[in-house]
Amino acid sequence: SQKSKDALHIPRYVRVNEHKSTVENMIKAFEKEGYTFVDTPEDLRTLGIKSFCKDAHLHDVLVFPPKTDLHIHPKYVAGDIILQDKASCFPAHVAQIPTNVHAIDACAAPGNKTSHLSALMKNTGRIWAFDLDQRRLQTLKKLTTKAGCRNIEAIHGSFLDADPMDAMYAKVEYLLLDPSCSGSGIVSRLDHLVDGDDDEQENADGTITTREERLQNLSDFQISIIEHALKFPNAKRIVYSTCSIHSEENENVVQTILSRHPEFVLASRESVLPTWQRRGFPGEMENYREQSDSVVRTLPSEDLTNGFFVACFVPRTATS
Ligand code: SAM
Repeated sequence: SQKSKDALHIPRYVRVNEHKSTVENMIKAFEKEGYTFVDTPEDLRTLGIKSFCKDAHLHDVLVFPPKTDLHIHPKYVAGDIILQDKASCFPAHVAQIPTNVHAIDACAAPGNKTSHLSALMKNTGRIWAFDLDQRRLQTLKKLTTKAGCRNIEAIHGSFLDADPMDAMYAKVEYLLLDPSCSGSGIVSRLDHLVDGDDDEQENADGTITTREERLQNLSDFQISIIEHALKFPNAKRIVYSTCSIHSEENENVVQTILSRHPEFVLASRESVLPTWQRRGFPGEMENYREQSDSVVRTLPSEDLTNGFFVACFVPRTATS
């Protein structure tokens, strides 16, 4: 399939865990092991075996050729590096989170984005990390502990049940929303296991749902997660992301939120990965065409990442 072909070309992205090391030290460490650092490769597709470079957009990401296997590498085992696709490193950066603030990661497990936020916050302030799934939340606890995160409080339960008026959350300014999605953007060598994108699917109870029905259910859920986040009285930046390539879960969701909540707008392009060229599809945000530039997309076949989408909502009063 096209997805398998794409997967063959996706580099091995490595996020340096800044709780434990620095990008410069990690570059030195890999060089010492015999890897060759390439300063500015013309085309990532030409990166040779055992060579690597810095990512062109994200300061804490290194790029290795597709076949590089680092799963048993001591730096990975120690939690010094995180094996995370480049696009899934976008949301924490888009949050532009400073130190000493309060944040919520609403759909957090297994916790790669939580640990990324924690690193960008330099272990200060606080992150409440919610997940409905107990088993996945256990993984989050393990993963974030291994990564050296000390500012995370894992909460088993639905984010939708968190009371925005609870005094505990009074200072929450940053919310990261990465809700369940179709996963249609994920390209991996195991794509047949994650690809839930068939036209019709049989459910556990024997009923059949169409692709349209499933996308409708997902987008209703995604909208409810965003709408809940908008209720937090001090919300400053609310980052929404999916690993879907379907506009039903992306631009259309954003358009619904903007039309129902005029007190919120999209953060402008300057604060949402301005140098990333692929932006939202204007035709899928008909009433907000000119704002499609404020959201980010990735396309597996073109961008050498998984398919991904990121938008950031800010209170209208925060813009002038
Ligand atoms: N952000 C995670 C990361 O980067 O490692 C991946 C999150 S995954 C796309 C979506 C998660 O949302 C799943 O772990 C799922 O259990 C969780 N979830 C679904 N409904 C939820 C809800 N109402 N409240 C909190 N978490 C929920």
